[in-house]
Amino acid sequence: PTFEYESIRRKVTDDIQELWYFINSTMTELKSKIIGNASTLLIVNKIIPIVSEYKRALVNNMEKLAEVDAFNNWRNVEITDLSNIVQKRLHYLQNPTNCQKAKKLICSITHTCGFGCQINHLVVYMIIAYGMKTTLILQSKGWSYHSNGWNDIFMPLSNNCTTVNNVSIDEWPGTPESKAINLPVTTDVDPRSQYMPLAVPEDLVNRLKTIHGNPSAWWMGQIIKYMWKPQNFTKTYITNKTKELGIESPFVGIHIRRTDKLIREAKYHAIEEYMFKVDEYYNRTEINSNVTKRRVYIATDDINVITEAKTKYSHYEILYNTNIPKVPRMDHYHLQDNLLDVIFDVHILSRSNFLVCTFSSNMCKLAYLLMQNDYVDASRMAATIDYVFHSYQQKCNKRKVMLSHKAQTPEEIDLVPGDIIDIYSNQWNGYSKGTNMRTNQKGLYPSFKVEMESEIIKFPIYSEVN
Ligand code: GDP
Repeated sequence: PTFEYESIRRKVTDDIQELWYFINSTMTELKSKIIGNASTLLIVNKIIPIVSEYKRALVNNMEKLAEVDAFNNWRNVEITDLSNIVQKRLHYLQNPTNCQKAKKLICSITHTCGFGCQINHLVVYMIIAYGMKTTLILQSKGWSYHSNGWNDIFMPLSNNCTTVNNVSIDEWPGTPESKAINLPVTTDVDPRSQYMPLAVPEDLVNRLKTIHGNPSAWWMGQIIKYMWKPQNFTKTYITNKTKELGIESPFVGIHIRRTDKLIREAKYHAIEEYMFKVDEYYNRTEINSNVTKRRVYIATDDINVITEAKTKYSHYEILYNTNIPKVPRMDHYHLQDNLLDVIFDVHILSRSNFLVCTFSSNMCKLAYLLMQNDYVDASRMAATIDYVFHSYQQKCNKRKVMLSHKAQTPEEIDLVPGDIIDIYSNQWNGYSKGTNMRTNQKGLYPSFKVEMESEIIKFPIYSEVN
């Protein structure tokens, strides 16, 4: 299939979704304005349910189209091939024939932030190492989640090169002669490395943007795939706990982040907002398949969420990790968080048939990235109820304008086909907010008038790796 075919197929699904956001939000607003006119209210009340049904039928048909268009075999072969290319290169990078001579980048995960945050930083470090063709050395002794370090929990990042011996270490950015360079926390990588997400390697981008709806998420997911190799001890914990909690597919994964996150970094979202997305998912899948029980796995740092969910959604089968700390977390200190339970929750969320969470949370982003490794294209298998997908220190989150737009209100901006928008947020009402890079205007525009655009960067192509 051509890029045009695959991208139009994905775009139509997105447009159906955006059209529904628009109608749903406009009709809800209209309803609140027509007080005392019972006959008009009757008409408006008819619109939302029937349009919702239209939407489900259309999205289902778009999914079916991908199953019957005879390209499925190609999709599976293509995504496996792309993954093999990246995994082989990472293996080569991390296992140099002569470790003593190999150039090294040194990083640590000992800074104070949560597990998801630390892993997402590690992804950025590994991408910089891949871009610079330097072996990444992870220093993890004294890790806040497990003081003995990474290798107790996950396999080492290399079989033969895990320490820096007898060479002088320079601070970032180092020089071309540097044998070893110390990386600061990604937010302090100054000057910024061009390889940092959301950049996608030039030699892979054409194949990637044909097969996948979010190339940078796939690319970051591949980096996690290389690092996320649980030790037997960790695997056993996951297997036993999955059985003990009775987790079976299909289920929707929900991550509800509360406690310390709400102090500065994210807004409170009621459980109803998450469940609205879950209901939509089940309303749609039930058209084609027989769902005997609507099952959800709720991962959360707040035990009260579970009590509330059980009371309000008793018609759902609600699964959850029984080890949620009873004392609310008040800051980044996670002494009460059991690392294996955090890993377990991320793992289960990534294995869900649909994921509902907030991309403001690193836990949600991590689960989404891991999810990309289990499917050809899992870019649309998650619904975020706050931010769009993004990364630390990203240069730009690009969307390309496909259709022109004349601002209808002072809050809106003009668009000309070909313009690049740096998206800030989706408003989930048919509009998104962003900055037009050509005009520097910041404001709202109809979401369907743009499509995803990758930031393309020349990375080494590792031609010596067969
Ligand atoms: P963020 O703060 O939400 O961006 O995500 P981080 O992973 O960086 O930090 C949050 C930390 O809180 C996690 O790493 C866990 O230690 C804990 N936490 C948050 N949500 C959950 C959850 O659903 N399950 C478990 N087990 N721990 C969680």
